[in-house]
Amino acid sequence: MPTRKTTPSKKKKVSSSQRQRKSTSPKKAAPFTIQNHCLIGPKVRQKETPNKSGEITPKYLVFHYTAGRSAQSSVNWLTNPASKASAHLVLGRDGSITQLAPFNVKTWHAGVSNWDGVKFLNQCSIGIEMDNAGPLQQVGTTFKAWFGKEYPTSQALHAKHKLNEEPCWWHTYTEAQIDAALELARLLTSTYGLKEIVGHEDIAPERKRDPGPAFPLAHIQSAGMGRNTEAEEEHDECYRVTASALNIRKGPGRDFEAVSAPLPLGTMVTLLEKRDRWYKVETNDEQDIEGWVFNKFLEAV
Ligand SMILES: [Zn+2]
Repeated sequence: MPTRKTTPSKKKKVSSSQRQRKSTSPKKAAPFTIQNHCLIGPKVRQKETPNKSGEITPKYLVFHYTAGRSAQSSVNWLTNPASKASAHLVLGRDGSITQLAPFNVKTWHAGVSNWDGVKFLNQCSIGIEMDNAGPLQQVGTTFKAWFGKEYPTSQALHAKHKLNEEPCWWHTYTEAQIDAALELARLLTSTYGLKEIVGHEDIAPERKRDPGPAFPLAHIQSAGMGRNTEAEEEHDECYRVTASALNIRKGPGRDFEAVSAPLPLGTMVTLLEKRDRWYKVETNDEQDIEGWVFNKFLEAV
């Protein structure tokens, strides 16, 4: 997500937590498949919502929290005509999934929204609602949701939302939800050739704060889109510059201005991020120059 990326610019600084997450969930075969725009897999059930309209070609995946009491209560609400709201999937805290409409049918999850020049993202996006209470208020030793239910300290995270000034408390997601979210992101991206994975907070920042800081959206984005996962999982990837002078730019393209003088032949760099044929790198010397280079002129070492 180029314009709103909030991960620290030096990827390697965040990769240790990502390694930790991955090490707790060993690689296994993808649990889901898609047939006829319907999700098939264990713990997946279908319950059709009347809140839908017309056919779509999905280009984006939008993550939400339900701000609700349970997955079942959210499924009930999102299949009730009175709500005038829906999504394609509801992801429960135990990893179970309810599909409310086929992925090529418009559901009503995004509302007034704007992203990448598109208005009203319902017309071209898949929506996943995750069972999560949203913001919590600290009351004594427990944490209370807007609907009155209390949660233990172990399910509360104190964190600053990227769009807010001050930190506050948020209901955490379960490991089963995060694992399923990642599998779904990978499957939907490869099946539909999605352009981007976003949060509701990204496409409706004036109104929305979901999925919020308790959800590892940046990780789901990069791993879900198949970017950079090898480098993050295994080790820092190092390269040597093979051009006599390699331009290093502010963004992944020739139109971006240079961040410094070109890198001389033989400069050693560390990979931070991949975007197609452009690599974001940092020089290994004390100058610490950071920017985007064309990968044709890099040789892995
Ligand atoms: Zn939402």
